[in-house]
Amino acid sequence: MKKIDHIGIAVKDLAHSSDLYRRLLGYGSYKTEIVDTEKVITEFFKINESKLELLQASSDESAIAKFIEKRGEGIHHIAFAVDNIVDEMARLKADGFQLLSEKPKKGADNKLVCFVHPKAMSGVLIELCESIER
Ligand code: ZN
Repeated sequence: MKKIDHIGIAVKDLAHSSDLYRRLLGYGSYKTEIVDTEKVITEFFKINESKLELLQASSDESAIAKFIEKRGEGIHHIAFAVDNIVDEMARLKADGFQLLSEKPKKGADNKLVCFVHPKAMSGVLIELCESIER
């Protein structure tokens, strides 16, 4: 793992939360993206090397909608940047970690992503992400 790439925050109202974080940081987001596969709308803020990802459900079926229903708004996941997501997935799988997908998926922000089940991670959903930007 190279670094913490971003922290994902589940929000009910993206426009409201985006304004809050814009005021907190003193500047606005650099990207808004609809991720149809995950049924979310995301907005990214850059703080030097680190990022915040605000996530709003775009459907009641979205994992974000279910998360907020169960636990309310708040930190949804911590994402670690990796050089080679396939290698890291194999390493974690061999060490007994439960991954939420067999293969990396296309995520927001030009990334290949995979999640580690929160039940086995002290309640925290972990994301691995490999940048596919060129
Ligand atoms: Zn994320």
